[in-house]
Amino acid sequence: MTSPRVVVLGGGACGMTAGYTLARAGVEVVVLERELRVGGLCGTHERRGFRFDLGGHRFISRSRALDSLVRELVGSDLLERTRSSVVLNGGQAYRYPLELDDVLRKVSLRRGAKIVGSYACERVRQAVRRDPDVSFEDWVTHRFGRELYATFFGPYTQKLWGIAPSQISADWASQRISLLSLSDVLVRLAGLRKGGARTYARRYLYPRLGIGEIFERMAAAMIGAGGKLYLGARLTGIDTQKGRVRAVRYRTSSGEHELACDAVISTVALPEVARMVGGAAMPVALRRASERLRFRAIRLCNVLLDLPEVSPHTWMYVSDPRYLMARIQEPRHRSPELAPRGQTSLMLEIPCDVGDELWTASEEQIYARCMDDLAALGYAHLRRATLDYFSTYVHEGYPIYHLDYLGDRDRLLSFVGETANLVSCGRQGAFRYIFMDTAMEMGMAAAQLYLDRRGSGRAIADLRSEAGLVEARALTA
Ligand SMILES: Cc1cc2nc3c(=O)[nH]c(=O)nc-3n(C[C@H](O)[C@H](O)[C@H](O)COP(=O)(O)OP(=O)(O)OC[C@H]3O[C@@H](n4cnc5c(N)ncnc54)[C@H](O)[C@@H]3O)c2cc1C
Repeated sequence: MTSPRVVVLGGGACGMTAGYTLARAGVEVVVLERELRVGGLCGTHERRGFRFDLGGHRFISRSRALDSLVRELVGSDLLERTRSSVVLNGGQAYRYPLELDDVLRKVSLRRGAKIVGSYACERVRQAVRRDPDVSFEDWVTHRFGRELYATFFGPYTQKLWGIAPSQISADWASQRISLLSLSDVLVRLAGLRKGGARTYARRYLYPRLGIGEIFERMAAAMIGAGGKLYLGARLTGIDTQKGRVRAVRYRTSSGEHELACDAVISTVALPEVARMVGGAAMPVALRRASERLRFRAIRLCNVLLDLPEVSPHTWMYVSDPRYLMARIQEPRHRSPELAPRGQTSLMLEIPCDVGDELWTASEEQIYARCMDDLAALGYAHLRRATLDYFSTYVHEGYPIYHLDYLGDRDRLLSFVGETANLVSCGRQGAFRYIFMDTAMEMGMAAAQLYLDRRGSGRAIADLRSEAGLVEARALTA
């Protein structure tokens, strides 16, 4: 048997785009995917005619090439949607991303005064002595004041990450929080300036049958162009020789296999790949770095409902730590075909760690807890309307940006980069909190690197990280 030229590890957004690009260019390519379906985080599950993504996904891209690719693949089954999101907090629903005019109108007079007062104090303090932004907490309080931090940002972030915001790198905030100027809001509220707050991308593309449709079609097109896809194939080892990958090993239901290759594009988690490359001889400092880079997991409690609608919102953020879920999503607002006619569903996003009590709780326990929380939030009728429920699990939901994550990430990327024919990219492979468009662009770039034999794998892991390209889509997502 001739060796495949390129092996792509992982059939998510990044890996499938790499495989598709290579196959279309006539390269022999094999994509190995541990699950029985493609899409990774962008996968869609079906149950009794209801469809659930792994957390709501919307496609927005600044790249014309990528936008055209998705339109070409999904064709007339691609919908253009408008999002509507709110933050539920203290019995109020605030517009999302947070707009301070809206916040100041809805909070009590006392809290509004505290928000404005703590903001003013912070501005004065920062003007006199500019404190460094080390942690998430620093970054937010220095810009918005302690009261806004304590009301919205702090509790939500603690729930999402499971660690104190003072232990999370300021990078997370600078990459994900839009800079709204509070003074600008106050000037507008006082009627001294006309015009609305800064606007956000509310429109997005979404396939009729769920986000996974993009990657299922991409996989079919890749196979049509001669590429191979092995599902249920879990990577177990990477064999190197003279600074190059010689072969990868993987396990399927039929046993262990080895695949010789000329090059590898890996989208599996960076710490895992580094440990496979390093093997038993991996230096202790690198092994420790690989153990420090961890991911936050997500359990999704998917509830099928015999109701036409729960709320008009696609997303409802729940910042209060008393409630399990960080977000409540109603899939049919993304596409009406995600639920049968006249019915709807909810997808409750529960941040947790693999193996903890939320991850391991039975279906019944999680559902009961979620229903109690929903009742407290004003949705007591949902229990009676439930047709069915089930959980889906995401092992690598969010790369955890601990305070020195950049140093650890850098060490591991440099180490993996010493293997000449191996590129580590994608959300898990670059250890970066990126959206699917950047993951897909990384896949395209990794394929192009192989085709052109020019450029560097490291630059791909840092793609679109330059200042100014930071998304202005979300407060924290
Ligand atoms: C809750 C949530 C909501 C999101 N919402 C949006 C959104 O609205 N819009 C947006 O653009 N982005 C969104 N994202 C981000 C988006 O999902 C990711 O950026 C994108 O899916 C990353 O693709 P990837 O291929 O890099 O990684 P992944 O999707 O994680 O793909 C990696 C693949 O590798 C496979 N794999 C892992 N280990 C092995 C192994 N040992 N052997 C074989 N295969 C393996 C995995 O099964 C997976 O298929 C969201 C993410 C989350 C968690």
